[in-house]
Amino acid sequence: MWSTDPSIKDIEQLDDSYKTISCDVLIVGAGGAGLRAAIECFERGTNALVVCKSLMGKAHTVMAEGGIAASLGNVDPQDSWQVHFSDTMVEGQFLSNWRIAEIFAKEAPDRVYELEYYGALFDRTNEGKIMQRPFGAHSYRRLCYIGDRTGLELIRTLEDQILARNIPYMDEVEITCIFRDSSGTSVSGCLGINIRSGELLLFQCKAVILATGGCGKVYHVTSNSWESTGDGIALACRAGAELMDMEMIQFHPTGMIYPAGVRGMLITEAVRGEGGILTNVKGERFMEKYDPKRLELSARDVVARSIYTEIVEGRGTPNGAVYLDIRHRGAEYIKNKLPSMYYQFLEFAGVDISKEKMEVAPTVHYQMGGIRVDPETCETNIQGLYAAGEVACGLHGANRLGGNSLSDILVFGRRAGIAASAKVKDSPAQQIPDESIRAEIGRILAPFKSTENVNPFALKEKIADVMWKYVGIVRNEQDLRQGLTEIGIIRLDSKKVQAKGPRAFNQSWIDSMAVWNMVLDCEAIIRSALERKESRGAHTRSDYPKKDDDNWKVNVVTKCEQGMMVQKIVPVPKMPEEYEKLINREESLSWKKNVK
Ligand SMILES: Cc1cc2nc3c(=O)[nH]c(=O)nc-3n(C[C@H](O)[C@H](O)[C@H](O)COP(=O)(O)OP(=O)(O)OC[C@H]3O[C@@H](n4cnc5c(N)ncnc54)[C@H](O)[C@@H]3O)c2cc1C
Repeated sequence: MWSTDPSIKDIEQLDDSYKTISCDVLIVGAGGAGLRAAIECFERGTNALVVCKSLMGKAHTVMAEGGIAASLGNVDPQDSWQVHFSDTMVEGQFLSNWRIAEIFAKEAPDRVYELEYYGALFDRTNEGKIMQRPFGAHSYRRLCYIGDRTGLELIRTLEDQILARNIPYMDEVEITCIFRDSSGTSVSGCLGINIRSGELLLFQCKAVILATGGCGKVYHVTSNSWESTGDGIALACRAGAELMDMEMIQFHPTGMIYPAGVRGMLITEAVRGEGGILTNVKGERFMEKYDPKRLELSARDVVARSIYTEIVEGRGTPNGAVYLDIRHRGAEYIKNKLPSMYYQFLEFAGVDISKEKMEVAPTVHYQMGGIRVDPETCETNIQGLYAAGEVACGLHGANRLGGNSLSDILVFGRRAGIAASAKVKDSPAQQIPDESIRAEIGRILAPFKSTENVNPFALKEKIADVMWKYVGIVRNEQDLRQGLTEIGIIRLDSKKVQAKGPRAFNQSWIDSMAVWNMVLDCEAIIRSALERKESRGAHTRSDYPKKDDDNWKVNVVTKCEQGMMVQKIVPVPKMPEEYEKLINREESLSWKKNVK
């Protein structure tokens, strides 16, 4: 915790002094993944410190609505980890790492019960068990939930545990760089900024767990919070870590469409889970055409593409949307099961969803790609650098199932905590090369020296427009190349960004760093999208409309080498035969026939 909360200091803009803080494990991020990692480190006696760029208790995870997926079998006793594993692999279109999916499916129920033990108040069945609801492409009712405020309860519960254990944390601290030792193989520390005072902070540590969430803010229309600027991906990539499947960006089928200020805001899949029906402007229930078996509860990529098709083929509403209708459930049921949705529409759009239909369209929601990690430990190819949660890659393949993220962040947050604790035990601290510290300080203070008057906020907007226009739900070579060119121009401009005024709470300075991270993320997304010459899951190419299992059942790995982004194709790890049998269940196959 901020033991002595520094008052806002009068720091000279170009003052390059820094304060040194030492710990064994630095956890970057206080969402579900970071907090669960911190609890694990504490339980193992590890000297860990949590830092986050927003306030403690405010991480993006609080926005999660619909629920957390785990095969408890409370409502459908036939459910099991094997079916959850199979659903995850099938809907990930076989790009997921099977071992990550196996660990996930096996450990998710324990993480839910643990959350309950920590104090989370789940909705209940009549027998008093944790309630579970249906969600898209899950074979059984599997999502444990707290109304439509599951993420809020998750963070509240974990935060209580952090406070009860007195685990140290520093909020409003932005990490800008991960340092390696002089040999370049191991992590040695990080540089950060105290946003409140503008002070520079050098963290000396033996391990870093990145739990920085996703990069949805690189798109114009997104459900994500302001924090999701993909910092962790850029930090890791600059430090030499490998990224994977960056082209896989999930478009959630149902985002709000108006008023403009809330465009992209999520309408949870729980609305469809509770019986919501999608219709076009002609009143047709169009999912009957695209997935007659699963209808509105088909996989997210399928529903998002179906809505997109209805809109571009002229069957959308005048606002460029389709309708989502839950009125048949009645006002009391809606207010009880979907309270946030009820008030969200009433307050922002003046729509009473118990009486009127909602207008919805796809919105950027989640990054399936991210930092490539070891399945058991979450360690990257850089020793001592770990990644867990949305920033990491390997579980969701080409399409994440709703609810699988909240269990992902708990399962792998814990595992990262275990592995990092083991790593730092008895291992010596590595030196941070002085020239690396000086170079990073020079880089981050550059906006105060700039006289070019380039506004970083305007660049953020430009990035989001370019990505929405050229790297959207349906892509093609020409658009992607144009997007890459425009991002390249923004990258050049980003070198000239200017920050004026004092360093404390300097939004232009914070935006400058976001822009540098975002352009790196976008380049990785576009280059990977160009590389994958097929359509699979969330990645749809109009010039390669078919899924190509013979050539593209592979992962696209991206790395920065000497300032250049390079890519390689690696085969997806081969699943053991007994797991192949699990996957080839009759119902999985019949879904695949219907849907793909
Ligand atoms: C509206 C909405 C609803 C959702 N509903 C569900 C759902 O019902 N079920 C489900 O499974 N998933 C859901 N998701 C997805 C899920 O919420 C996220 O994937 C998940 O919470 C990510 O958790 P995380 O711990 O990886 O990261 P986050 O919760 O995003 O936390 C990231 C942390 O990193 C910090 N950070 C970032 N960059 C830096 C930096 N440079 N320096 C310091 N700190 C930094 C942030 O401040 C924050 O504390 C939803 C997402 C949205 C947007």
